[in-house]
Amino acid sequence: MKYGGEEVPEQYDVVIIGAGPAGLTAGEELARSGRSVLILEKNEEIGPKICAGGLPTKITELGIPLDIADRQFTSIKAHTGNKSYVISLPWVFLSTIDRQKLGRFLLNRAVSCGAEVRTGAYVKRIQPGHVSLDGRDIHFRHLIGADSSASITRKHLGLKIEDMGVTFQYRVPWETDDIELYVDAHTFGSGLGWVVPHAGYTIIGLGWDAKERKERNLKQTCRRWCRERGLDIAGASEEHWFINYDYRGWHFDNVFLVGDAAGFASGLTGEGIYYAMLSGREAARKIIDPAYPCPGIEEILKKKRAHERLLRLMQLNRTCLNLYFRTLLNLTRSQWWTRRFNNFFF
Ligand SMILES: Cc1cc2nc3c(=O)[nH]c(=O)nc-3n(C[C@H](O)[C@H](O)[C@H](O)COP(=O)(O)OP(=O)(O)OC[C@H]3O[C@@H](n4cnc5c(N)ncnc54)[C@H](O)[C@@H]3O)c2cc1C
Repeated sequence: MKYGGEEVPEQYDVVIIGAGPAGLTAGEELARSGRSVLILEKNEEIGPKICAGGLPTKITELGIPLDIADRQFTSIKAHTGNKSYVISLPWVFLSTIDRQKLGRFLLNRAVSCGAEVRTGAYVKRIQPGHVSLDGRDIHFRHLIGADSSASITRKHLGLKIEDMGVTFQYRVPWETDDIELYVDAHTFGSGLGWVVPHAGYTIIGLGWDAKERKERNLKQTCRRWCRERGLDIAGASEEHWFINYDYRGWHFDNVFLVGDAAGFASGLTGEGIYYAMLSGREAARKIIDPAYPCPGIEEILKKKRAHERLLRLMQLNRTCLNLYFRTLLNLTRSQWWTRRFNNFFF
């Protein structure tokens, strides 16, 4: 920006790196309260992201209407190595959403509240009080790192990532009827496989804890599993990414980490969209009112602790894993247990 021939530094109350669900939700909340907000997104397009796109119904609490979902489900099919189960509830408890559609929805909301969004803006350097973009400095009072699992903000803070899930998935150009989950210690260890139908396409993939199993086996295992299950992957595109679930704090003076950058996704299920949006909203509220107690962050951490305790337990007793999966799935014949599992997992 130039003023009287002089380069005037750009200055915002809050700069947000990353226009995913976390960054856009934070931006919307801050802009609505009158803060000047700049969201920097490295991609030209907002939304597309390697993801299965499964959403728990509680996402509606964050203002996402289910009518923008691709599909809605009152049941899922779960499979162990040799047995199948139908888990159902009398209400819609899972939906699927196209990430591009979700991105556009959140972008419109943030922009209509007054947030400025700059695409093709790849932040490579952060310094105290400013980020550098194409050789220019953009100054901030607060910085929010909403820049995913490979977060540059997290690196700037010197935080390691040791706990992560690794994933591989196919996007096939046809639709299946059911949302399906696969658990089998021989194929996935303590991880899982998924078949997630959308409108006009289906995501078929798998993921597991990086510490437990080598990443290079992912693609071969996925291909073999699809062949054994008769899942047609002709014409599929391949996607491969990791999920940081190593939480090491989120509030560092005037710098906040939210979503996958903070490691808020579940290490057990890989679910992270709801947690990204909730943490984005909480960071915004904390900036607006420093006395805000952040109950949403407590909610995320409580769920993460429970999920990751179970994950560690499963990893300790790998020989009993299939017995454990079968026992859990047998319990879902009872609606009472199904409701409890729904509350625990989502
Ligand atoms: C294979 C797979 C399947 C998944 N399935 C599900 C699922 O079914 N349900 C679910 O809830 N979660 C799922 N997740 C997790 C979910 O995708 C994430 O938890 C969620 O997207 C996190 O949101 P976020 O806003 O933190 O990050 P992101 O959605 O990753 O957004 C971060 C944004 O920051 C931008 N960015 C990054 N670095 C920079 C930079 N230096 N400068 C500028 N911009 C930058 C990126 O381009 C991106 O747009 C899955 C993840 C994977 C890998």
